[in-house]
Amino acid sequence: MGDDREYAWQDAALAVLGLFLPVACVGCGTPDRALCRACRTVLDTQGRRVRLVAGVRLDAAFEYEGLVRTLLLELKLRGRVDLARPLGSRFGALVRAALAEAPPGVVLLRVPPSRRGARRRGFDPVGLLLAGGGVRPPRSLRRVRSPDRGAERESGSGQKERSAVERVAATVGTLRAVGVAGRDVVILDDVVTTGVTMAEAVRAVHAAGGRVVRCVTVASVDG
Ligand SMILES: [Zn+2]
Repeated sequence: MGDDREYAWQDAALAVLGLFLPVACVGCGTPDRALCRACRTVLDTQGRRVRLVAGVRLDAAFEYEGLVRTLLLELKLRGRVDLARPLGSRFGALVRAALAEAPPGVVLLRVPPSRRGARRRGFDPVGLLLAGGGVRPPRSLRRVRSPDRGAERESGSGQKERSAVERVAATVGTLRAVGVAGRDVVILDDVVTTGVTMAEAVRAVHAAGGRVVRCVTVASVDG
């Protein structure tokens, strides 16, 4: 819980800092806002994705490629928190739709940031993206232990050399869900590529006696 408060404070501080970031479009470099009008239009035309992860429907606000991938990496790796709103608005709408279509009493849970990623970044991208989409940060699944090194890396050279079986084996048992017995659950994360992290979140909810009715993410590759 202490972690959550710390993140909330940091998100607020970063939102203020965002007002003073240099104003060049992240998409094309034009001296303008974080995202110029032309790039906003391109973003609006990007396709959604629906796929299955561990037998559960996953709604992605965007396909993880091109401009969307660039913007998400700028937010996550360079702290461009001013991108949380353009990226988060469609994400927030999907989260609200998932909750509206779920049975009453549905529980919203998010995948926690990896400990390594949180330390490196010092802020929480999922929380920022949810705030950008007007969604209050939900409870988080608990991280029991860190995945074996490289298992969660969503891009980079290490991943291709690992087999799917190795990635799953390195991730199983890393998350735990609490207080979901007999409940319907919607799970959130920012990016889904291999799907092993989201699949682990689904496993954790099922192991705790809950039922995952949908997963929602900002961006996903084709699954
Ligand atoms: Zn632009």
